[in-house]
Amino acid sequence: MSQPFRHSRSQEPYNEGVLLDQHQRPLRDLRLSVTDRCNLRCSYCMPEEEYVWLPREDILKFEEIERLVDVFLSLGVDKVRLTGGEPLLRRDLPALLERLATRSGIRDLAMTTNGVLLAPQAQSLADAGLHRLTVSLDTLQPDRFHQLTRSHDLPRVLDGIAAAAPLFPGLKIDTVVIRDTNDDELVDLIEFGRGYGAEVRFIEYMDVGGATHWSMERVVARAEMLDRLTRHYGPITPIQETSSAPADRYQLPDGTVFGIISSTTAPFCQACDRSRLTADGMWFVCLYAPVGLDLRGALRRGSTPEALASLISSVWEARRDRGAETRLAERDRTPLIPIERLRRDPHLEMHTRGG
Ligand code: SAM
Ligand code: SF4
Ligand code: SF4
Repeated sequence: MSQPFRHSRSQEPYNEGVLLDQHQRPLRDLRLSVTDRCNLRCSYCMPEEEYVWLPREDILKFEEIERLVDVFLSLGVDKVRLTGGEPLLRRDLPALLERLATRSGIRDLAMTTNGVLLAPQAQSLADAGLHRLTVSLDTLQPDRFHQLTRSHDLPRVLDGIAAAAPLFPGLKIDTVVIRDTNDDELVDLIEFGRGYGAEVRFIEYMDVGGATHWSMERVVARAEMLDRLTRHYGPITPIQETSSAPADRYQLPDGTVFGIISSTTAPFCQACDRSRLTADGMWFVCLYAPVGLDLRGALRRGSTPEALASLISSVWEARRDRGAETRLAERDRTPLIPIERLRRDPHLEMHTRGG
């Protein structure tokens, strides 16, 4: 296949009075990082030996998270995704989920995890009311998993997927594809996912903060992934859908569906309704934004929900960010943020900001 499939992206219809940014994008999707800690060291996210962690006293308590979530719900957010760091490292996470699940404003309550701690917790996450689950898995090969993550926990991740798949129909498996690292496993991963009824989504390697080993040569573009899969499976059909979700979805000749998130070569900023709240309450309106809004400070100083809502609204209304598109337009791309700057401000790290 010489031409990549292209989807037209448009936003879902929204009601008048909805909060819109400078590009008419509504505020809908909140990524909630519940910890900056992680039990893996993925080479594309945390490749360094040492990290500066957020001070423990700064981490939002569940009750503080709830108060902020309620303000976001009042402004139109209806999708909440727990992330991290590794969210399952946060103690008593099901208790937070249970409390969030009571909010009728949350249409979609999801989580992204690396799966290491999933098997023993899958049932309690389902019981707590989690709607949807995504597990990150980049390889099925134990040696490669160790090289990629500096951990021998692949069997635990696989057990986690086996435990979660029956509890979370439509389970997603997210794979960051990196040239000469795991780009020969696209078919194996699709076959693995199919065995569990899970939809595999291939993510282009992004030059986000923390990806200090990134280079354009290591990015496998969507077009190339589709080429490789077409050679193996035969004609692939793009699924036409209207969505602000980042993945373009495709169907294999036998009906198996998979996705590609082409954040690097064909970014989807134009329909981006996402923002991110770090575990210590900094709010970022773009994955690439250099600065965030300190909502913890405002909350702990006693701001009312109305005052917080007005603070958030003013930032969202001024939002012009199209971080990945801006990066795409740059020539001679090197990693986004030098390591010294990451050490000075861990909020610039993907594992702090939440993927
Ligand atoms: N620790 C959890 C996990 O890995 O699923 C949740 C947090 S992690 C930051 C969220 C997602 O970001 C993961 O699916 C991960 O693969 C993705 N990610 C991290 N660094 C990336 C990069 N440089 N390019 C593309 N995706 C990346
Ligand atoms: Fe890997 Fe997620 Fe941990 Fe980053 S936060 S190192 S992607 S498991
Ligand atoms: Fe949204 Fe920023 Fe990602 Fe673009 S780069 S999709 S604006 S978070």
